[in-house]
Amino acid sequence: MNDIFSDDFKDAPYWWDGTPRPISTVTLLPDQADVLIVGSGYTGLNAGLVTAHNGLKTVIVDAETAGWGCSSRNGGQVSGEIKPGYTQLSRKYGHDRAYALVQEARNALDWIGEFIGTEGIACDFRRCGRFHAAHSPRQFARQVHEFHHQAKGLERPGHLVEKTDLGTEIDSPFYHGGLVIDSHASLDPARYHQGLYDRALTSGCQVIGNCKVTSIKRKSEGFDVITGQGRIRAGKVIIATSGYTGSATPWHQRRIIPIGSYMLATETLDPALIRQLIPNDRVISDTRKLVVYFRASPDGRRILFGGRVSVKETDPVRSASPLRLEMLRIFPQLAEAKISHSWMGFVGYTFDNLPHLGEDHGLYYAMGYCGSGVCLASYFGHRLGQQAAARPDSESEIAMNGLRFQTRPLYRGNPWFLAPTIRYYQIKDRLN
Ligand SMILES: Cc1cc2nc3c(=O)[nH]c(=O)nc-3n(C[C@H](O)[C@H](O)[C@H](O)COP(=O)(O)OP(=O)(O)OC[C@H]3O[C@@H](n4cnc5c(N)ncnc54)[C@H](O)[C@@H]3O)c2cc1C
Repeated sequence: MNDIFSDDFKDAPYWWDGTPRPISTVTLLPDQADVLIVGSGYTGLNAGLVTAHNGLKTVIVDAETAGWGCSSRNGGQVSGEIKPGYTQLSRKYGHDRAYALVQEARNALDWIGEFIGTEGIACDFRRCGRFHAAHSPRQFARQVHEFHHQAKGLERPGHLVEKTDLGTEIDSPFYHGGLVIDSHASLDPARYHQGLYDRALTSGCQVIGNCKVTSIKRKSEGFDVITGQGRIRAGKVIIATSGYTGSATPWHQRRIIPIGSYMLATETLDPALIRQLIPNDRVISDTRKLVVYFRASPDGRRILFGGRVSVKETDPVRSASPLRLEMLRIFPQLAEAKISHSWMGFVGYTFDNLPHLGEDHGLYYAMGYCGSGVCLASYFGHRLGQQAAARPDSESEIAMNGLRFQTRPLYRGNPWFLAPTIRYYQIKDRLN
């Protein structure tokens, strides 16, 4: 098995080579903050940027180094989509709410592009578009139907690609056509996180790593928060832990389903081969329930490939092999390519497949982006920061506000039901 790995193989995210994890400059936990933020990914840093800009003393803590969670280890695909489609949502919530929910996620996509541009964050952000590939003729027929019956006002700019023209988007024997979505984008997730981190420090946030929150107690005024580095009193607390939500916030833990997502990077390859595999340099995903997602690295020299190849595996050396085999089904041309990096992380899912944000007397949260967190976490973190800072612009309604954040009886954060669900989806993907 070892001969699939390059000599310089790392069981860590490829992105960390270019952007090593930041070393916290603050060593002492202050004993008071106006706002304490738990989690230093996109949600936490974007919230903190707003609260600090509004003059609130903001402390952001993370159990690991800053950005250690999903925000420095994702695929860098920027989509602005929620999982359920308009039709499904309108059956449950009616036309107006369904429209607003889909539109809010699109707002997030517009927002992140503008934000990165205005802030001048160097993170290889590109409106490259997505190719969503059909894994069967039936799924392509479904894409054709859906493309011609999009809800009025929610049409996505893009075009269909027939199987005969597949080579314009991807050099793969695996697919049967697909859909190009023009608005989707790509970025380098760790560079984006570093840009946020730098700006959070400049705006006055204190970001403290290796400081795990173990309990949060409500007081008559504010909160008493116990961490691995001591106690801190906070006027308001923001929970920004998504797929890493743990026992410090049991109410949230009962509502988040952590699902492992796995990625690998190939060794450096001939850029001409990469251009042949993905000619338009788009981000790519496919129509399977157990989705795979892939793209070229920003320097155009590697394939970065992700998917859900295991239920429980946390050792990226072991996940690399099945993930590589999945990659070879799509790109047999990569049979000789060695794997240089393999890693995984926990994506925060929810029972209704929607992100949730809310507040309960000074305790705020935003989480559960269901695999689309690059722009949703950023945008909802920003909006949550506005709410915590009680800014006038925070009063504009966020479509996700007030959605019931569901749990299930006996669920405590350990998703025992994943194995049968994944097996069911594997069969469904084969039949569909
Ligand atoms: C392999 C992989 C690929 C992905 N690809 C994509 C993609 O291409 N596009 C996309 O849109 N999304 C993708 N995602 C999802 C996306 O990265 C996340 O939704 C997003 O980064 C969530 O940001 P966050 O700030 O809410 O949480 P995170 O970035 O996960 O941060 C949560 C932080 O909370 C900290 N924490 C937890 N508990 C405590 C505690 N008690 N005390 C202190 N700190 C605590 C953790 O250490 C962690 O750093 C992917 C995720 C993974 C794992």
